[in-house]
Formats: sequence, structure tokens, C-alpha cells
Amino acid sequence: MAAGKLIVVLVSFVLLTFQLQAQNEMSSKETLTEKQQSIIQIAAITAKGDLQALKPLLNKGLDAGLTINQIKEALIHLYAYCGFPRSIRGLQTFMEVLDERKAKSISDIAGAEATPIQEKGSKYDRGKKVLGELTQMPQPATLSGYSAFAPIIDTFLKEHLFADIFERDVLTYVERELVTISVISAIGGAEPMLRSHLSICLNVGLTPAQLNEFTGIIKSTLGEKEEKEAQKVLNEVLKTVLAFPKGEKITSSNFSGTVYLKMMGARDTALHTSFGNVTFEPKARTNWHSHPGGQILFITEGQGYYQAKGQPARLLSKGDVVEIPRNLEHWHGAAPDSEFAHIAVSLNTDDGSAVWSGLVTDEEYNQATKVENNQQK
Ligand code: MN
Repeated sequence: MAAGKLIVVLVSFVLLTFQLQAQNEMSSKETLTEKQQSIIQIAAITAKGDLQALKPLLNKGLDAGLTINQIKEALIHLYAYCGFPRSIRGLQTFMEVLDERKAKSISDIAGAEATPIQEKGSKYDRGKKVLGELTQMPQPATLSGYSAFAPIIDTFLKEHLFADIFERDVLTYVERELVTISVISAIGGAEPMLRSHLSICLNVGLTPAQLNEFTGIIKSTLGEKEEKEAQKVLNEVLKTVLAFPKGEKITSSNFSGTVYLKMMGARDTALHTSFGNVTFEPKARTNWHSHPGGQILFITEGQGYYQAKGQPARLLSKGDVVEIPRNLEHWHGAAPDSEFAHIAVSLNTDDGSAVWSGLVTDEEYNQATKVENNQQK
């Protein structure tokens, strides 16, 4: 019977560990993982052909936990976008790095090999199907544009890139798309392709915040010119998927961190309201404040928090609504690892504008956003 109890305790412990792990994965979904960051850096610099800069990045990727086969696969995948010479130079550099690490007795994990493709059916149709999954659009029955002009390139693209390459496992669609947008950003002059692959990135589950992080990595890896071009295309793509425009950076000292505001309805004397879209970067937040006429928040993107003074913070995500009573001291802002946006509607504005008090200190913020301290709904 003691053994029975022990089993119950052990099972509970395992379940708890599992839950905590799941929570960690959930809460980190809005930022790129170290492995994803490494994939971007390796792909971008290989496409540039800067083999000296590539070496430390390959080391960093292995140290971050990418397997030898995953890096190999990324270097293979990119040949479809920047050609055999860059791909093969990348692979040769990787061989050197692996030899150097072996000499230093660093043991790297080979990782899983690609599973042989079992798919039957015409390769062209399989590629067309993969492309349909990625773009979330049915592929047209007749060719147009460059495909009609040179039909064989359409065949190569579907059979080889989207069947032969994309059907391989080792890397996920997300990882393959990160390689792709990194290479296209590095080579430049391919905006239409960057635009379609950034859209595919959103389709396969990357978030606007993660793609903004991507352009930051392009800046630190390649430079400002490449970052600016990529950011311009990304902004165009995001405009079509964000529910409301992001607006301009707020310079007011009533907020901490980076916050954007787009006013949508000015204070008026007929409806006695004013409203706007507020976007907070991770960790950004308002100061403590209250509204004499009350406020309603409609959450439109990401994850964040609302906390009334003396109460546990409430975790918020897309679709949540918060009704804030008149004169109640509170703050709202992003989670530590997620961008966050809400439409803020100020009510009964004739009763006065927001009353601002002190900063939400790092200590208060950390305390409020700790998983065990906040009220889940
Ligand atoms: Mn408020």
C-alpha cells in the first residue's frame, strides 16, 4: 500500500512536470527559439557566401542543440534559392567545423536521418499539394505568368522544390520557411518571393512578433540594408493580416517599454468616448492609472496582463474583454515574451482623462506575471 501511494506521488510529479513543460512551451511560442535563430543566421550568411562568418554561426547552432543532420538539411534546402555553389561551399565549411570540433573532443549529435519518401502518385501533383498546404490556396488548374511563359520551370519548381525537398522530414515546414526567407533576404531583389514566403510563414504558425524578430536577426547578421528591405516587405504582408493598424511609437512617460498607438475615434461630445489600438512589445506596459469614466479593453493580438491594485493579475489573450470600473487603479501591458495589442475604449470622457500614478516597477511586473501568481481567467 505504501508502494501504491508512492506510485500516485510519482505519477502526480510526472504530470506536474509535464504541465510545467507545456506551459513553458506555450509561453515561449511568441519568440523565436535559439535553434530557430541559428537556422536564420546560418542560412543568411551561407547565401551571402561569407564562409569565415559562417564558421562561428555553425558552432553556435550545434551548441544551441541543432543536430548535424538538421544543419546539413538547412544547407541542402537553401540550394533551391541560392544555387549549388553556395550550398556546397556551406556544406564544405560545415565539414571543416565538424572536424575542428572532433579534434577538440566535442561530441555532436548526428540526429535523425530523412525518412525515405513513401508517397505514391505523380511528383508534380504531390508538389502542387504541398504548395497548396503552404499557401492555403487552391493551386490554379491552368498556368499563367512566368509559368505559362516557361512551363518547365513550373514543373521543376513543383516536382523538385515542393515535392523532393519539402516532403523530406528532418526539418519542419517552419524551419524550412525560416531558411527560405533568410536566403531570399540575403540575395535581395526578390521581393515577390519574399512576400509569398512571409505569408507562408504566417500560415505555418509563425507570429507577426516572431517575423519582426526575424528582421532584427537579419540586421545583426547581414546589415541594415538587408533588414530594411525585408522589413518593408514584412510590413506590407502584416498590413493584410493585422486586424487594426499599429500606428506610431508612443513617447509618453506614462508607459514603459515600446508601445504603439493608433487613435481610431477622438473624444467626442455626443458619444462621450475615445478609442484607439494600442500595441505593446514584450514586457511593455502602462504605468498605474485610473479612468474617471471607466474603460473597456478588447484584446486583438498576443498575450498580456491586466491588474487592478491589490488583485492578482489576469492573463489575457486574443478575444478577451476587460471591463474596468470608474476610478479603479490598474495597469495593462504585454506578457514577458509576447507582443500584445488591444483596442482601448475610454468611456464617459466628460468625467475627465486618465489619472496617472507611478511606474509599474520591474518587481511588481515580475511578481504579477509569474505563472503561479496570476489568475488564469
Ligand atoms: Mn487603463
